Amino acid sequence: MRDWQAWTIKFSAVFAAVSRWTGALLAAEGFPIPSSWLSWWVPFSAFMGAFMAGVEGWAFAYVFNAWWMMRKEENEREEAGEKVKKLSPQLLRMVVLSAFTFILVLTPYIAAMVRGTTLSTILSHDWSLFGWSASVAASTITIVASVGVAQGRSNEIRRRKRLSKCSLCGKSTLNLKKHMQMHAAEVAHIESIPEAIRVLRDRYPEGALPSVGEIATWRRP
Ligand SMILES: [Zn+2]
Repeated sequence: MRDWQAWTIKFSAVFAAVSRWTGALLAAEGFPIPSSWLSWWVPFSAFMGAFMAGVEGWAFAYVFNAWWMMRKEENEREEAGEKVKKLSPQLLRMVVLSAFTFILVLTPYIAAMVRGTTLSTILSHDWSLFGWSASVAASTITIVASVGVAQGRSNEIRRRKRLSKCSLCGKSTLNLKKHMQMHAAEVAHIESIPEAIRVLRDRYPEGALPSVGEIATWRRP
């Protein structure tokens, strides 16, 4: 099951964001991070940053994999003649948006490293600081949302794969054997096999009728 992965990723992404949200919320209240905290806050934040990068990498792998499976499944269904409402492009757009916000988050760090300066020097303009802060918040939200959508679709695909289609009435069912017993009951009371076939043909004009031999077995108790 891949479900535990999605839950772990979502939980970890939120957990990894805690240090950034705490700093932001404190600042919003007018308090900077207390200087007495700095001895542990800085290594803690660095650890959370590295942890976040790991979680993002895992999340992208998960979502791309889900997108690939979804696209394959949608194409298969379409080739089988089903009218498919394609949802994989929507998931791809979400993951591209997540990647874009993640790049916005990383870029100032990389620029600061290349120039040998600090992040606050790079983000000295108000607009750049606001933009960067917004993308930090957005990157957590978009990745959690993408993983959530990917998880929902994966579950749906797994459910659909477990369903078998009845060739007689065209309905999908989890238990085809039990479903066929229902059709058997429809004609069990009819004495002659040709008459049973006629009844089934009338009821399911577009369905593929079972063989005469099979219908004969339906009639035994
Ligand atoms: Zn059926």
